[in-house]
Amino acid sequence: MKHKYLYINTIGCQMNVYDTRRIIAGLQAIGYHHTPDMEQADLIIVNTCSIREKAEQKAFSFLGRLASFKKKKPGLIVGVGGCVAQQEGKAILKRVPFVDIVFGTHAVGRLPARISEMEKHHQQIVDIEFADTIEPIRPSITDMNPPVSGFVTIMRGCDNFCTYCIVPYVRGREISRKPEEILNEIKAYADSGMREITLLGQNVNSYGKKEGLCSFSELLEKVNRIDGISRIRFTTSHPKDLSDELIQCFAALDKLCSHIHLPVQSGSNTILKKMNRRYTRERYLEKIEKLRAACPDIAITSDMIVGFPGETDSDFEDTLDLMKTVAFDGLFAFSYSDRPHAPAVHFTEKVSETDKKARLQKLLDLQETYTRAGNTSLVGKIESVLVEGPGKKQPATDSSVDVDENQWTGRTSTNRIVNFIWKENTLHGTPLTPGEIILIKINRALSHSLWGEPVHPGISSQNIKGEHYAA
Ligand code: SF4
Repeated sequence: MKHKYLYINTIGCQMNVYDTRRIIAGLQAIGYHHTPDMEQADLIIVNTCSIREKAEQKAFSFLGRLASFKKKKPGLIVGVGGCVAQQEGKAILKRVPFVDIVFGTHAVGRLPARISEMEKHHQQIVDIEFADTIEPIRPSITDMNPPVSGFVTIMRGCDNFCTYCIVPYVRGREISRKPEEILNEIKAYADSGMREITLLGQNVNSYGKKEGLCSFSELLEKVNRIDGISRIRFTTSHPKDLSDELIQCFAALDKLCSHIHLPVQSGSNTILKKMNRRYTRERYLEKIEKLRAACPDIAITSDMIVGFPGETDSDFEDTLDLMKTVAFDGLFAFSYSDRPHAPAVHFTEKVSETDKKARLQKLLDLQETYTRAGNTSLVGKIESVLVEGPGKKQPATDSSVDVDENQWTGRTSTNRIVNFIWKENTLHGTPLTPGEIILIKINRALSHSLWGEPVHPGISSQNIKGEHYAA
């Protein structure tokens, strides 16, 4: 049989990264080999994101570049998947007539059959039906490089309807996978050498509630018992659903990393109400206190939107004030943009682009001081680091850092990147393998990463949660 090749461009969040791996695994079954070389491809897929306008533009500009490819190779199949496909459906064929298949967020399991149909009949296909279960296609571990850490989707969709967000419209309502299915998938990854698992969902805190499955905390306990897995992470959590039971997991489960991403979006109660977030800044701050009481070293990161319709200078000051109170370890900040279907499109009192830009800059400058301070506080401490692989060259702007061929990179339990030198033949004796957890003494803090040196050469420590050790 002739080899067929698939090239896939993934835009957006970890859910899309995971779906891409499922697409690759599904299409392998009908003879497609994944290639990083677009020239070689017989099938090109763009897995799109529509959470923000920029991501959507990125997808269409990629499709624009494919026009000349399609002319050169008339048999080439072009597919559009993900959130933009779900949102726009047939309209994509009008806008980009050479697209062959549009498949929505629930159509990944049906894709191999759809592609086979396309190969036979050469007729454009649009498949954006919602399904009420998640198809059990498991990503192949050979597509994860390096296979030290990976994602596992535990649920899909969202029932929250925040007024700026299109997820409930493009990913559908919440559906949770059965715990046995999730645990079997994780066991298979652990057997293949994966050491860190990130459980994914739009709102993992409400896992299983609708279906009457186990709670998310119970699921974490079960994952914690899987041999071979050293670290567990999860994302994303809605603050209103962050239970005391889940907070206690940070104290009780040895493999659960000391990091939570808890999107707050605004520090103003007026804006939180308009966003339909269903918590107040006071409730959010209470949860932060409880998290820090349960796990004093926990790193807390968040998302923030500036310039939501109606946001006044005083609302924005409330956001800065909340940032000063929490001192986030990291923050993803965005300027509000209208998204189709989201109710906030119809809100009047839009904030000007100039004000949004100025507020975003002010917020990023403030966050920079907290991110750096968080990193600097680790200098002199010993951290357990999960080794990910050989290090990447430092950006040219950072001339203070030497590049060394023995450079390695890994992550702390608090999700900070740590670079270090490992000389197997001289200094440290033994070869280092991705997936090991080793102790590193931090000796330098940069804006977004740390540098350190291995301590007690040869001693590696499995399942160390990330406590600091006296240096
Ligand atoms: S919780 Fe809100 S912001 Fe998050 S996915 Fe659901 S609707 Fe969107």
